[in-house]
Amino acid sequence: RYHQAIKENRHLYNILQELRGNIRVFCRIRPIFKFEAKSCIEYIGNDGSLMVFDPCKSQNTRKIFQFNKVFGPATTQGEVYKETQSLIRSVMDGYNVCIFAYGQTGAGKTYTMCGSSNGSCEELGINHMALNDLFQISSIREDIKYDIHVQMVEIYNEQVRDLLAEDGANTKLEIMNCSGNGGLSIPNASIRGVQSTADVLNLMILGEKNRAFSSTAMNHRSSRSHSVLTIHVHGKDISGNTIRSCLHLVDLAGSERVDKSEVTGDQLKEAQHINKSLSCLGDVITALAQKNSHIPYRNSKLTQLLQNSLGGNAKMLMFIHPESDSHGETISTLKFAQRASTVELGAPHQNKESSEIRNLKEQIDNLKKALMIKE
Ligand code: ADP
Ligand code: MG
Repeated sequence: RYHQAIKENRHLYNILQELRGNIRVFCRIRPIFKFEAKSCIEYIGNDGSLMVFDPCKSQNTRKIFQFNKVFGPATTQGEVYKETQSLIRSVMDGYNVCIFAYGQTGAGKTYTMCGSSNGSCEELGINHMALNDLFQISSIREDIKYDIHVQMVEIYNEQVRDLLAEDGANTKLEIMNCSGNGGLSIPNASIRGVQSTADVLNLMILGEKNRAFSSTAMNHRSSRSHSVLTIHVHGKDISGNTIRSCLHLVDLAGSERVDKSEVTGDQLKEAQHINKSLSCLGDVITALAQKNSHIPYRNSKLTQLLQNSLGGNAKMLMFIHPESDSHGETISTLKFAQRASTVELGAPHQNKESSEIRNLKEQIDNLKKALMIKE
C-alpha cells in the first residue's frame, strides 16, 4: 500500500521524502558519442537500478547499482528538472539545499547544471530552471517578501576564490565557522542582490570567466576546480516571521584518476587536490551515513564551505554522471555514489524564526548594550 500511495500521489511522496530527509542520489547517463567505445551500461531499470558490465572481459562481470533515480541517455533537461523541482522549491520554505554534479570530465556535469547552447538550440540546465522557479515563487507569494542574494566561488588547489570579485578571483577567502543559519560561511566573498534570473545569469558569465581552466590529455577545457553558486534566500512574512536558507549548486571538478590524464607538474598538483577533496566529501557523506559523532568537515575546503548544508537540517541531491564507455571509471564513480545513497539524515528543519523569538533576541542585545554602556 505504501508503494501504491507513492505511485498515486506524487505530492505525498514528496512529503514522505521530506520527512525522511535523506540524501537523494540521481544517476544520469549521457548519450554515447560516435567515437566512443561500446557502453558498459547494460540495463537501466525504472526503479533506479543500473546494470554495469565490463565489455573487455569474457566472464560475467555484471554488477547492479541502486539509486533513487536513473536517467538514461534520452532523458531531457526538463524531465531531470521535474524530479528536482520540489527539492528546489523547498528552499523558499526555509530549507538549506545542496545539489552536486559528480563525475569524470566529459561525463555531463556542466550540461546537467548549466545546460548548453550550440547556436541553434538552447538546453537550459538545473541552475537556470531553478532560478526561474525561485523568482516565480518570490513574485507570486503575497504573504512573504523575499530578498535574494548570490555568491559564487571556486575551490582551486584547496584555496577558495571569489568568482564575482572585480579583480578576477585573485582574492583568497577564509571560511568562517558560521553557527547560526543566518551566518555566511565566506563573509568576505562578494555578495550581490538579484531581482531576476537574468541578473544571476549575468553574474554567472562573470564568474565563469574568472574560473580556472587548464588542459589535460582528456579534455582541452577540462575544469579542474569546484564551482559553488550559492543563492541566499531571506524571507519575511506579514507578522514578522523570517526564514533564511540557501541553495548551493555545485559543479565539482572532474573525478578522473590521475594516471589516465597523464599529468605532471602543476596539473598533477591540481589532480591531487581534486582527489583529496572528493574523497573528503565521500568521507563526510559516509560519516553522516554511519551517524558518527564526528563528521570530518574540516578535512577539505569543500566540506568546510558546505558544512551547513551537509548536516541534519539540510537536503542533499547528488547527480552522478558515469562515463559509460569506460568501465573502470564507471565502477569507481558508482561506488562513490553508493556510499552517498546509504545516508539517512534526520528530519530536515526549516530555518524559521518567529517574530516573538526575534523580539526576545533584540531585547537581549539591547540589554547587553545597556550593560556595556554602564561598564
Ligand atoms: P563535464 O562538465 O562533466 O566535463 P560536459 O557537461 O561538458 O561534461 O559534457 C561533455 C559533452 O557532452 C558536452 O559537449 C555536452 O554538451 C555533452 N553532453 C553531456 N551530457 C549530455 C546529455 N545528457 N545530452 C546531450 N549531450 C550531453
Ligand atoms: Mg564541466
